[in-house]
Amino acid sequence: MNKKGHVLNAVLLSVGLGYLLEPATELTDVLVTLETMVMIGVPVTLGALFPDVDTAFGKHRKTLHNLPVLAAFFFFPAAFGNLEYVWIGILTHYVLDVAGSRRGIALFYPLSSTEYGLPFGVTVSSSRATIVTVLVTIVEVALAAVVILEVPQWGLEVGRQAMGI
Ligand SMILES: [Zn+2]
Repeated sequence: MNKKGHVLNAVLLSVGLGYLLEPATELTDVLVTLETMVMIGVPVTLGALFPDVDTAFGKHRKTLHNLPVLAAFFFFPAAFGNLEYVWIGILTHYVLDVAGSRRGIALFYPLSSTEYGLPFGVTVSSSRATIVTVLVTIVEVALAAVVILEVPQWGLEVGRQAMGI
């Protein structure tokens, strides 16, 4: 996927995540929802642009397109107290590169240079690239909704049962 696709994906995903985390039910809450979208949207978009830095440094779709890089950004906030949400941008970049191309990415680099993609991936230059990007984003927001809205309830339920209340 090209930069335009990655930015579109990151911005739409952040709008979805912002709404899921701070859903405005009344007009007075709209500003808080918009603020959350910006708070998430900037780091997510920067994260979504980062993996393709390996077009200039290292091997493209390998050096910065792997699980160790994702893990590093995932644990960075806990270790250093900044760069929250950047990992979401990195993750969604990987998803789009896997779904949005036939070539795929080297998930286990530097252990293995094998690139993993979907056989029905749509090529970067395809006229369908934008619609694929939007569809991938919708699926991502739906999965995020399940995690954000359902997992806490499920955890609470399991906790309740464990404590017998
Ligand atoms: Zn990429």
